Amino acid sequence: MGGSDPRQRRSVGVLYRGRFAPSPTGPLHAGSLVAALASWLDARAHGGAWLVRIEDVDTPRCVPGADRLILDQLATCGLHSDEPVVWQSQRGALYQQALDRLIATGQAYPCACSRKDIEATLTAQGLVRERHHAAVYPGTCRPGRGGLRGRTARAWRFLVPTHSTVDWTDQQLGPQTQDVGTEVGDFVLKRADGLWAYQLAVVVDDAAQGITHVVRGADLTDNTPRQILLQRALGLPTPAYRHTPLVLGANGEKLSKQNGALALDLSDPVDALNRAAATLGLPPASGSVQDVLAGWTRAWASTISAPPPAAPHIATP
Ligand code: GLU
Repeated sequence: MGGSDPRQRRSVGVLYRGRFAPSPTGPLHAGSLVAALASWLDARAHGGAWLVRIEDVDTPRCVPGADRLILDQLATCGLHSDEPVVWQSQRGALYQQALDRLIATGQAYPCACSRKDIEATLTAQGLVRERHHAAVYPGTCRPGRGGLRGRTARAWRFLVPTHSTVDWTDQQLGPQTQDVGTEVGDFVLKRADGLWAYQLAVVVDDAAQGITHVVRGADLTDNTPRQILLQRALGLPTPAYRHTPLVLGANGEKLSKQNGALALDLSDPVDALNRAAATLGLPPASGSVQDVLAGWTRAWASTISAPPPAAPHIATP
């Protein structure tokens, strides 16, 4: 699917729906603009639709007004959602339906463990959690392993299937593999504080919005196998995934709102876009916002030649 034949591009466009899904925990920073630009360019280069979804399920981390600020920043950069923006905080009924379906099919179970309980169990088993990594849930409340044993349910977890290795091909990073069972364990779908977990919300919304291509920062790469397992469990299609390079801070750590990444200076949006484009390996450009976006869209389209990646599959033993 080259970028040269407009008819071909249009026919592909019918099939392409991409999105940018920021969490409104602060304004856009240099790293999130890279993900926004990459997802927009990929959608445009395929003649597809680009949607914006505000991922505000983790309400304690959300900053009031950050959603509007992000939308304004995107608009300043010439990036406009092709459809009305959706807010995850208004979509709890959809997530509940999906959880109910997983419970009804025995693929989700209630969990009474606190973080302290999990740490204590892992320590008792001689397992030490690696720094920066969430603890692998030891399966204490798994059905068949004793379940709640009279304790009060706090959260809902996904029952990771026995054959839990997911192989998939990232459009940027190539072949990837993760054994979700041993590397992550049964992950949370609904948290003890009643909030929806990112993994469930993102899978439900990508499917509900008909997203065919997910383009996002490489810090989310290792979430993808969990999302693929959930798609399988819910009978939903798996989109193509492309994880884009991260912008690193002076300390070599990824830029994030959590480590105090500065808000973007958009007094010169073409300059900010050029910085983001450079991270994506695109050439410098000058002119209006519209001109530079159009030029990079052509450049991006010229690189789209590979067929879509093979559908991910769950390895059988
Ligand atoms: N809301 C996530 C973030 O801001 C992105 C989720 C996604 O693109 O799947 O990091």
